[in-house]
Amino acid sequence: MIVLKFGGTSVADAERMLSAAALVRDCRERRPVVVVSALGGVTDALIKGAEVALRGDESALEPLLAQLRDRHDQMGRILAERAGEDWQALRRDLEPALERISAIYRGLVLLRELSPRVSDLLAGLGEILSSRLMVYACRAQGVPAAWVDPREWLLTNEEFGRAQPLWEEVRQLVGANFPPIVQNHQVPVTGGFVGSTLKGTPTTLGRGGSDFSAAILGVCLEAEEIQIWTDVDGMMTSDPRVVPEARLLEEISFDEASELAYFGAKVLHPSTIKPAMEAGIPVRVLNTLKPKMSGTRITASGSGERIIRAIATKKGITGITLSSPRMLMAHGFLAFIFQVFDKYSTAVDLVATSEVSVSLTVDDVRSLELIRRDLQPHCRVVVQRDLAVISVVGRNFLHQTGVAGRVFGALREINLLMVSFGASDINLSFVVKQADADTAVRLLHRELLEPATVAHL
Ligand code: ASP
Ligand code: MG
Repeated sequence: MIVLKFGGTSVADAERMLSAAALVRDCRERRPVVVVSALGGVTDALIKGAEVALRGDESALEPLLAQLRDRHDQMGRILAERAGEDWQALRRDLEPALERISAIYRGLVLLRELSPRVSDLLAGLGEILSSRLMVYACRAQGVPAAWVDPREWLLTNEEFGRAQPLWEEVRQLVGANFPPIVQNHQVPVTGGFVGSTLKGTPTTLGRGGSDFSAAILGVCLEAEEIQIWTDVDGMMTSDPRVVPEARLLEEISFDEASELAYFGAKVLHPSTIKPAMEAGIPVRVLNTLKPKMSGTRITASGSGERIIRAIATKKGITGITLSSPRMLMAHGFLAFIFQVFDKYSTAVDLVATSEVSVSLTVDDVRSLELIRRDLQPHCRVVVQRDLAVISVVGRNFLHQTGVAGRVFGALREINLLMVSFGASDINLSFVVKQADADTAVRLLHRELLEPATVAHL
């Protein structure tokens, strides 16, 4: 079996959804199982509606609700007609979720309180609606499809807003629900993102969680592959908006994908596919708009002998330099510094130390003033904003001579403010002024990744 997961933009309207269903049809002999996100923008709209309801703004709520209903209804009508099926039957499938959305909003207007539990109850309904529609899109493409309620197989703990699967239960329920449909020559269609507690209360896996649902399902079905269908070609050697010469990465390891995602290549959140990697199931990222392209295959170990794989950037970084001739040699100083950052739940990304100073970078500056206040009595604190971290991602850096030399050679005209190399053998990172970031990435890409120059890397 294979799992096909379609993201929100891939099912955003009737035509898109029909194209997605055509892809399901074209892989019928591989026994597909389908997972869909909510229609593009719907999860955001549901959450926005809750905010409006909390303000008690009933007049603004009406058009929001009408828009949600019309969008699903209109798609439903088109899909039912194309499938040669009764629109009223599909409408009856959609109605309970639509009715529930408006009931929750009415409740919020009255109560003016939104718990994570109620937020999940609401947010997960987008996937219930889209998966109901997808069944008809499949039928319209001649694929006999059957709906599986995600709340009936994805049992989770009670961490509303970022629930975790109860693997044993899920395994058993997936085994009971999906294979019989496949044996019956039908394609099971289910929604991502939403699940349910043991008591039957809906939960969600967190934003972007449909990829996680697809991975969980793939693992439980022992699928041969999990396909994540999106609106990008896959993972690239760099951001193509900055580097026009960027190329598609055909295969990449899970660790490399994680480094790239962290530094801004937001194709998917790698933690969501971790279970698939552990189970040895490859995940392929594909573009619904260009289905003939082979996309990027993510596997536990990756492949490709090239040492340097990609260059990623994260902008909007703040650098903090702490110096104290008196303190630094004393033991406990680093521990003290990190305690302060920890106290304000601020993650530190890069660190470099010298005899008298410590430089570090953070992404989240919400508590910066409090952090500064705590540190100032103990050391000099210099904050520098508008920086960028650039990461060269590859493999086995530490076993290669010449990598650092080429990197620094390519950047001789750029002012490097901080360097981190050696912490892992797949990442060499440094900090530059944000204004220099795009130039630095282009220089590096040309030096390290463009065919004319990569011969010996
Ligand atoms: N619909 C959910 C979201 O927008 C889950 C997903 O699309 O993966 O976050
Ligand atoms: Mg997504």
